[in-house]
Amino acid sequence: MMNRMDPFPINSPLPQVFTTPEFSMELCCQGNDRYTKVSYPVKYGLFSRLETRDHILEFNLNHEIRHARSKKNTWLHPSEWLKRTLGNDWVYYSSGGYSGVYEALGEYYLPNLTYPTNSLLGGKPFEEKGIREIVTHWPDILTGLPDTGLPDEFSGWLQRLRENTPERLAEKARTLFDIIGSRVTVMPPDARHTDYNFIPLTIADGCLYKCAFCKIKNKKPFSVRSRADIHRQIAELKTLYGRDIINYNALFLGEHDALNAPADLILETLEKAHEEFGFASSYMKEAFLFIFGSADSFLNADPLLFEGLKALPFQTFINLGLESCDKTTLKLIGKPITPEKVRAAFEKAQQINQTLPNVEISCNFIMDEDLPPTHAESLLSLLRPDSRRTSPKGGIYLSPLKFASPSREVLYDFYKLKSLSRFPTFLYLIQRL
Ligand code: SF4
Repeated sequence: MMNRMDPFPINSPLPQVFTTPEFSMELCCQGNDRYTKVSYPVKYGLFSRLETRDHILEFNLNHEIRHARSKKNTWLHPSEWLKRTLGNDWVYYSSGGYSGVYEALGEYYLPNLTYPTNSLLGGKPFEEKGIREIVTHWPDILTGLPDTGLPDEFSGWLQRLRENTPERLAEKARTLFDIIGSRVTVMPPDARHTDYNFIPLTIADGCLYKCAFCKIKNKKPFSVRSRADIHRQIAELKTLYGRDIINYNALFLGEHDALNAPADLILETLEKAHEEFGFASSYMKEAFLFIFGSADSFLNADPLLFEGLKALPFQTFINLGLESCDKTTLKLIGKPITPEKVRAAFEKAQQINQTLPNVEISCNFIMDEDLPPTHAESLLSLLRPDSRRTSPKGGIYLSPLKFASPSREVLYDFYKLKSLSRFPTFLYLIQRL
């Protein structure tokens, strides 16, 4: 029998299928090995699948449920599905009329969440009977399968699926949060490029500003983790992700301003994580790095950091929370930086985007109907420079300030700004891991 840390035999005969009139089981399914943006459902990585008359459930290499959908006519749309995250949240991916979602998010599917967030799009899928039924009763589908008459390989597989009860999955999520210090309360918007699949590793806690408006901040003062603690996390994460680690090729360096950590610590951590997590031999091609930064950490960053990032085998996305370049707005939202600093950070971001092929700096700004008009005016002056050239790099993410309050007016303002912006411009949907 395979040990949980043994490498997955990618070259073994694939897939293995057992079928009856009532259900089919498929082990070692091979999904796409690159993240792509397409308007139909794509499965990534290596996984296993159970299909019954009414449902399709998919499991990762640790035998934990990861995707589900119903085949009943109560299901909202045949190309929509549920995903369970490592943080043990269920997310419903809806197409929502592909073009609108793609325009707004840069992705063809809209993640619908079970907790309050700042989404301007989508409905309330978790109030639908078919969706509620799967989220609460998926273990019953496993229980309803026969205990006898299955080939050994499939009965062993079913046994392991049944062992991963909702309680055990919740416990595993808590273990993940304990290893890194806390839940990832907000994922970088660029993590959409790997469908929010990444390994989180905390190299620094807290943030620099503790802005009044921010709903995701914590009380921790900014502090950098020791090398020993980072090594402990890497070892524990490697065990926690287990066999399924082969499906990962992305790293999130937490927490809210990891860019403010010393350059040598960041670079050493990246090298070690890349090696220990086996990104070079991941089933998923390329390697991605996501990291948050601030105006100060970005402007003060050691030039050696960018030289180092250029040489590492990561496609790096650094996301800066700039919020506004209007003095009145910055004061209103309690963000202790100046418009001059915001403009300087924005200009430096463009320099890096133009010169480092494997590094992209994206910037966040806020949106709200109650902000002074000077906010939108100053933002437009940044996003619509004199040059008529559009920039393919340097995503701009606009984050509605209010949670659980979709507003047509804000959505209209977003599309207007997007049409004028010279940069790829999207909404920032706040999601946790
Ligand atoms: S916006 Fe960023 S810097 Fe400000 S409190 Fe939130 S996490 Fe901290």
